Amino acid sequence: KYLTRPTEIAQSIMRGILKKGDVAVDATMGNGQDTLFLAKMVKSEGKIFAFDIQDLAVANTKKLLEKNHIYDDVHIIQDSHENIDRYVSDEIAGVMFNLGYLPKGDHQIITKAETTLVALKKSLKLLKRNGIITMVIYYGHLGGETEKEKIIEYVEKLDPNLFHVLKIDYINQTQEPPIIIGIVKK
Ligand code: SAM
Repeated sequence: KYLTRPTEIAQSIMRGILKKGDVAVDATMGNGQDTLFLAKMVKSEGKIFAFDIQDLAVANTKKLLEKNHIYDDVHIIQDSHENIDRYVSDEIAGVMFNLGYLPKGDHQIITKAETTLVALKKSLKLLKRNGIITMVIYYGHLGGETEKEKIIEYVEKLDPNLFHVLKIDYINQTQEPPIIIGIVKK
């Protein structure tokens, strides 16, 4: 199972940097898997901000956290991640994006290049030194290709004196396998 799930690869990248007491952000909470992961990593001393625009994501994430007895400093925010700076003023150690639509949810509600890019740019500013942003980009759906292209075009041009940018591809698969991007602030 190791290396088969892109979300687990993103979590492995995060695991290398996050520690107890950190502030971290789940930019696309969905069913809450990354929120739960981040909460476990930063422990009760840390703080999590989780964003999503849809009711189902908020409900599912709350349920998942309760089931796992996480009652720590987790801020569930029903708003677009492009407004991250309205809620977060702390320096962030890690931000996770998981783009596309909510699995088992409404496939019409998707992340979009314009708002994702605003959220990414703001996240880069809030990120602390050695902090990491991961993006798992699913793009097989309508509109997904445009979002993928715009994000790659942007991250490819990030100043190499300020950021390390890494791209992981499943190179032997068909049907638009997801892409994983990792960005480290130097
Ligand atoms: N990581 C999630 C999980 O563990 O289930 C899956 C995320 S899913 C691929 C993408 C999510 O992004 C959807 O739940 C969708 O509602 C959300 N989304 C779409 N546009 C958004 C926006 N502008 N701000 C925040 N979340 C958004």
